[in-house]
Amino acid sequence: MRHFRWIGPALALICLVSGLATGGQEEIYWGDEVPEKWNGDWPEKFQTVPERTDFKKTTSSYEILEFIDTLKWNSENVHVFTMFISELRRQCPVVVMSNPRITSPQEAKKSGKPVIYLQGNIHPPEAEGKEALLMVMRDILLGDKKHLLDDQIILCCPNFNVDGNDSWGLRDGTPHIIGTRQNARGYDLNRDAIKLETTNVQGLYRTVLNRWNPVLVFDAHAMGRVQHGYAIVYATSTVPAAHPGPRGYVWDTLFPAMRKAIRENFRIETFSHCLFPRNQWPPKVWSHDLAYWTTEGKFVTAAYGLRNRMSILVETPGDPVFERKIYAHYALVSELLEYTNRHGREMQEVCRAADQEVVDKIKSHAPSGELKNYVAGKYESWGKIDLLAYPENKYEYIPGTSVQRKKPGTLEATPQVIKDVEHLTKPVGTREATVPRGYLIPAGLDHIVDKLRLQNIEVKVLERPITVRGEEYAIDKIIPVQRGGYAMIDLKGEFVRFESKTFPAGTYMIDLAQPHANLAFYCLEPEVGDGLAGWGFFNDALKSLGAGKERVTFPVHKYFEVIGESE
Ligand SMILES: [Zn+2]
Repeated sequence: MRHFRWIGPALALICLVSGLATGGQEEIYWGDEVPEKWNGDWPEKFQTVPERTDFKKTTSSYEILEFIDTLKWNSENVHVFTMFISELRRQCPVVVMSNPRITSPQEAKKSGKPVIYLQGNIHPPEAEGKEALLMVMRDILLGDKKHLLDDQIILCCPNFNVDGNDSWGLRDGTPHIIGTRQNARGYDLNRDAIKLETTNVQGLYRTVLNRWNPVLVFDAHAMGRVQHGYAIVYATSTVPAAHPGPRGYVWDTLFPAMRKAIRENFRIETFSHCLFPRNQWPPKVWSHDLAYWTTEGKFVTAAYGLRNRMSILVETPGDPVFERKIYAHYALVSELLEYTNRHGREMQEVCRAADQEVVDKIKSHAPSGELKNYVAGKYESWGKIDLLAYPENKYEYIPGTSVQRKKPGTLEATPQVIKDVEHLTKPVGTREATVPRGYLIPAGLDHIVDKLRLQNIEVKVLERPITVRGEEYAIDKIIPVQRGGYAMIDLKGEFVRFESKTFPAGTYMIDLAQPHANLAFYCLEPEVGDGLAGWGFFNDALKSLGAGKERVTFPVHKYFEVIGESE
């Protein structure tokens, strides 16, 4: 059986835009436009739910299992495992695609091929990524994209929030019936990457990230009602504490190549994941902050950067029709996988070099007490850019109905090219702390150690007492704060150095001479607002020490050097 993909000319108007990054004139699809028959001509049994319903419906968790079952019965390049069983007893499947087929992380490692992890539907109202991933899997396994398995192993979890997906509700726009953002316990899964409270994210870390060690993690989203002119936008991890090598590669090398290929092969415009201020026209800034992207690590793709690996989050604008948003995700994932298939080995090298450099720096510089890393950050401008944007974003009721739509004439056809807009996406550190050779955690704080181990940070237990030179944090104030809708705490105090302190057998010890040192630093530093202290995991311990009434010492100690070990 052969399937042809044909990208025909757009039936709708084709627009000419000059002054874009290539400087040339190109046919681009804007607004709701997609090429005719862009998704090929598949028999019904291989069609996704949107394809079967004229892009009016999204796929249920049950239908996803059916679809994956069909792939299994028609391809010898599939292995499926369960990431977790949800609170409402739904299975969350991960599809492993490889040629020849492999079924374990050990085989993946032995093959030497890079592992790429694709994730959809962390937020089910943003279902287009899920649908595009189902189509990409089909086209790799049964269609014209089989070459994408030549030099990579692809793991795909199209429906990460399985319970949210099937908690159906009504909304304006397509599809009209859609899942809910949170999981069954009410958690936003894309705020859980440091606190690790949800079954979903715990499952992701345990069965995918810690075992398969993907060189790149991809996470699909959609935005609300916005005015930019891009079909889909992208971001990478921007936590300043992370090694800059992997994120620098994604930003400087992968993104420009992917953007160019998407324009050439799919005829849509893509750019960085930002917004400009509402009610500002023409816009002066294009900023990550305004699009709720941050220099913190709580997002899955942000935290993954702290492991010296690469990650990408993408979002389609909220207004276009479902088919257009699926098309944009399909285009981006297709070109991303073309890139990783060709350059995955180079990406592995960048990550390996970062692993090595992190360990070497700890060994050579931490004992002096002079090694620093960032506990907070912000965005600065890379310089001025040309931006595609629409001047207004208006809504109206469709006559004779109670349904809102975008007003015809807005957010369609060619957007304007706005000159000299500041591109506020360059992460910089704003505050530092000393990076120790390691951390010491008292025996009672097992719940902290459980989190660290789930982050794949190596933690040992002291068999006999040790004496160390190091630093401790004296807390003067615990300040409750609201950050991003969460009740968190900020600790205010000062670091005090000590020449000699002895810790008993049974104390947990984290030697930072390990590739995940930056992640351990981020989780454990008392002044990281988004670390385990910020999320309140030390609150009980601090209370029992008398915090709030007097100056107390943060229970995690930093050591620069072990100066004595008892027999
Ligand atoms: Zn989202």
